[in-house]
Amino acid sequence: MSETEVVGDKQTITCLGEQFRVYIDRDRIQERVTELGRQISEDYAGKKPVLIGVLNGAFMFLADLMRSISIDCEVDFIKLSSYGAQKITSGVVHELKKIDAEITGRHVIVVEDIVDTGLSMSYLMEKMSSHRPASVTAATLLHKHEATKVDINLKYVGFKIKNLFVIGYGLDYGQLARNYPDIYILDEEVDA
Ligand code: 5GP
Repeated sequence: MSETEVVGDKQTITCLGEQFRVYIDRDRIQERVTELGRQISEDYAGKKPVLIGVLNGAFMFLADLMRSISIDCEVDFIKLSSYGAQKITSGVVHELKKIDAEITGRHVIVVEDIVDTGLSMSYLMEKMSSHRPASVTAATLLHKHEATKVDINLKYVGFKIKNLFVIGYGLDYGQLARNYPDIYILDEEVDA
C-alpha cells in the first residue's frame, strides 16, 4: 500500500497515516490563479517581470500562474530550507539554492505557495531587494494571515486561510501529496 492513498470519491486522502479532506477544490484554485495571472499581466504590461518561484512548494502554482500570464515574463527558482516532515515552522530560514537570474534593474515577483509566519517571504523580499531590482512584489497562493508575525506587503494573494496545516497542489506532508490538484486539510479540522 502506498503512503498516500485516495479514499473513495477523492474528497479524502490518507497521507502518512493521517486523513485529509478537500479544503479548496481544483476548480476554485484554477479560477483564482487565472484571475491573478490576468491581474499581473495588466500591472506589468511592457515590463517583462521575472517570477522567482520558491521551491519546492510553489512549483505547481507557479506553472499555472505563468500559463495565465499573457505578457512576456521570465522564471527562475530559489530554494529555502523546509519543514521536513513537521507541521510547524522552525522559524529559521536557510538558502539551499540561490537564483541564477540577473535581477538588477528588473521587475521581480516572488512566488510562494503559502505565507505562514511570513519569515520566508520577508527574508526573500529583503534578499531580492539587495540585488537592486527595479521593483519587487510578492505573490502567494495561500496566506495564513492570523499566523503572520512580520509586516509584509503581499500584493497578490490567492486565498486567505485559517491557521491550519494544508497539503496538495504543490504543498507537502513529509514530501508527499504535492501531486494532488486540490488543497486538503486534516479531516478533524474540516469544521474549524
Ligand atoms: P513561513 O516562513 O511563512 O512561516 O512559512 C513558509 C513556508 O512554510 C512555505 O513556503 C511552506 O513551505 C511551509 N508551510 C507553511 N504552512 C504550511 C502548511 O500548512 N502546509 C505545508 N505543507 N507547508 C507549509
